[in-house]
Amino acid sequence: MRVAQKQDIACPNKECRVYNKIGLLNVIRKGTQCNGTLRYQCTDCKRTFARTIGTPFFHRHLKKKEIKNICKHLAEKNGYRSIARITGHHLDTIRAIADVVGNHCKNYSEYFVKELSLTPVEIDEMWGFVKKKKNIAKARASG
Ligand SMILES: [Zn+2]
Repeated sequence: MRVAQKQDIACPNKECRVYNKIGLLNVIRKGTQCNGTLRYQCTDCKRTFARTIGTPFFHRHLKKKEIKNICKHLAEKNGYRSIARITGHHLDTIRAIADVVGNHCKNYSEYFVKELSLTPVEIDEMWGFVKKKKNIAKARASG
């Protein structure tokens, strides 16, 4: 049996005793899926789960890198059909990913507005700050 190590992921089972508590020694690695996603198991409730649970990558056959590539094309305002031709994936796959990513972003924005009581301008400023810091971090890492 594997020894539990400190993971940066928590048990997603709402009925579990240690639900959503990160840093406890209750999560162990439990193999990978065919698309490379890591799987984990909670030693408390014995439930197995994918690392991508609760993200747009969850329940996708494509690799994370391919989904990110499709998202980049969507951000550049390419059409679904052109993205399908560029990436070589089916049109329905592109539409499904766009739908999931769009809903995820919408939920994120709603969380910021409702739970944190931020205005849309404040959210925009926050993302601008994050983007700026990301560029600085990249510049420091490269040179
Ligand atoms: Zn659990």
